[in-house]
Amino acid sequence: MTVARTASARRPLLEMRGISKRFGGLAALSDINLTVEEGSVHAIIGPNGAGKSTLLNVLVGLIEPDQGEVVFDGRPLAGITPHDIIQLGIARVFQTPQIFPGMTLLQNVAIAALAKRDGKFAVKVLESLTRTHPIIEESAAMLERVGLGAKLDEIAEQLSRGDKRRLELAICLVCRPRLLLLDEPTAGMSRHDTNTTVELLEEIAKGGMTKVIIEHDMHVVFTLAERITVLAQGRVIADGPPEEIRGNPKVQEAYLGGAQV
Ligand code: ADP
Ligand code: MG
Repeated sequence: MTVARTASARRPLLEMRGISKRFGGLAALSDINLTVEEGSVHAIIGPNGAGKSTLLNVLVGLIEPDQGEVVFDGRPLAGITPHDIIQLGIARVFQTPQIFPGMTLLQNVAIAALAKRDGKFAVKVLESLTRTHPIIEESAAMLERVGLGAKLDEIAEQLSRGDKRRLELAICLVCRPRLLLLDEPTAGMSRHDTNTTVELLEEIAKGGMTKVIIEHDMHVVFTLAERITVLAQGRVIADGPPEEIRGNPKVQEAYLGGAQV
């Protein structure tokens, strides 16, 4: 039986309209229009320097665009700070910004859950919580889900790179975001770690959480994405379902034009 995943009409959760950003003489983003539908997995791909990370930074309020607007769930995000973003239900997996290296995995996840609930990091509150407190139980369950259930009391900085990424994911997921942003979640991972991460992301996708993923590994992109936007030199050169993108001559040209895939 074949049921097209795109058959049901979905509503846009995120819209980027006419986004432009220059760094001095360099047009990093030029008139970017992008719509992410609720419940979808949307990949942004393109050669190095295409503007992918800049676009994500605009989205979370780290970079102010010269032109254009970002609309999340019908609400313009102008002037929003990265802190407001979490409260709105947008979480991001970046390098390692939210890991407290000296804390245990459980403490790391629990403090994110507390921050989401109370709007601030509350180490004092965390110390007062017993193992059976719902926040702690939920945090332990989330670590279990990402495959770190056996390492709850290990110190975060001792983890392997792949496990740190999984911890970041647990930190993001415990905040129950409506939109999860992943910037190269498998970067630097072995093939084995990449595969387990992809399996985990596929499982999370079944829960209907909207995801935007920037990824250089084409195997990962074509496994996960329902829609792909291709950037090159700050412009959208293609946008559509994976089967359209795969055979698109413009995309092949952009990747063959000397830039790294
Ligand atoms: P990608 O993530 O697709 O590799 P980036 O968004 O990081 O690309 O960068 C797009 C372009 O903008 C690149 O040419 C990069 O050198 C430039 N760039 C990115 N951030 C800055 C910055 N803060 N200042 C100046 N140039 C930047
Ligand atoms: Mg980048």
